[in-house]
Amino acid sequence: SEYQNVSLIIGVTGIVGNSLAEILPLRNTPGGPWKVYGVARRPRPSWNVDHPVQYIQCDILDIEDTRSKLSTLSDVTHLFYVTWASKSTEIENCQVNGQMFNNVLNTIIPNCPNLKHICLQTGLKHYLGPFELMGKVVPHDPPFHEDLPRLNVPNFYYTLEDILFEEVKKKQGLTWSIHRPGNIFGFSPYSMMNIVCTLCVYAAICKHEGVPLKFPGSKAAWDGYSVCSDADLIAEQEIWSAVDPNAKNEAFNVNNGDVFKWKHFWMVFAEQFGVEPGELDESSKLSLTEMMKDKGPVWDEIVKKNELVATKLEDVGIWWFADYVLGRECMLDIMNKSKEHGFVGFRDSKKAFVSWINMVKAHKIVP
Ligand code: NDP
Repeated sequence: SEYQNVSLIIGVTGIVGNSLAEILPLRNTPGGPWKVYGVARRPRPSWNVDHPVQYIQCDILDIEDTRSKLSTLSDVTHLFYVTWASKSTEIENCQVNGQMFNNVLNTIIPNCPNLKHICLQTGLKHYLGPFELMGKVVPHDPPFHEDLPRLNVPNFYYTLEDILFEEVKKKQGLTWSIHRPGNIFGFSPYSMMNIVCTLCVYAAICKHEGVPLKFPGSKAAWDGYSVCSDADLIAEQEIWSAVDPNAKNEAFNVNNGDVFKWKHFWMVFAEQFGVEPGELDESSKLSLTEMMKDKGPVWDEIVKKNELVATKLEDVGIWWFADYVLGRECMLDIMNKSKEHGFVGFRDSKKAFVSWINMVKAHKIVP
């Protein structure tokens, strides 16, 4: 075969899935040349079509659909699981996300004799607890490292890990890795949590209305240190773990390797949109969910006037998530384990922030 390895990306249009779809097919990517399959539910969007990926439209929550679309794949060597479902309680999250992962593994493992490695992406909520228990459960004391024990609360990340550990036993030599990013800086307008795209949409609305770009967050986020995880860097760590023997059967944190403050990034951000930067307003407790709730028609007007890619405000402006990220102190994690095992990748978060903003603009998601 002209390919050395064959990858299957579950969630190929997501914030990391789209980065994997761009990086895996490149000539100099470790383990290459890679053949790439990619799965998502919606039809393939325009911004994803240039990646040389065989696109498979499939709902992995539906066992029949999963069997019919994925059981014909027999050459997969590496699985990248970069998706999730959001339900109203964590108990449901455990059930539904477990079902999705099981559907994929129960189809792929028996049908792909050359399957070697599974990358599972989870996140820092491994140490913090699920969204619904924020403020109710005592998280680990940061900085977070991979050896910390699980918290004694339901968490769909734990469910996914346990399924992974059980399933890899079924095939001799099958290895795994788990990747735990924090807030991800990346491009995808199909992501369920995209802080950069969401903030770009907010800035575009402020610009359109001629109002200053108020900081809709807390003093803890404005003044404190934050970390983030670049989507391309996460993809690079996942690909490294897929091919490097030193990375097998381990969980790794993944962040950019630096720290930043939102008060510094806010100036940079406002400049990108030519809007006046607002300061922290401690008294008013701004909430984007509240501020943006009637802006649907304004967004439609911005899209039309600037001939943008057609999007709905609720898909590209994920206000609850921005309120969550900016509303609290960012808890830090550390990268020692990943470096000790041989992955020394990093990003300058400010440069990465500006470059993702430019990507959101270049793909005409915002003006
Ligand atoms: P995204 O929300 O960015 O992308 C999800 C992808 O999966 C999309 O391609 C989506 O496309 C596809 N998808 C969703 N449901 C299904 C389904 N039933 N069948 C097939 N495809 C589906 O994912 P993330 O990268 O954000 O999430 C992966 C993990 O990373 C999660 O555990 C998340 O908690 C974690 N994480 C994310 C962070 C972030 O900032 N985004 C931060 C830290 C951790 P479509 O909708 O068309 O199906």
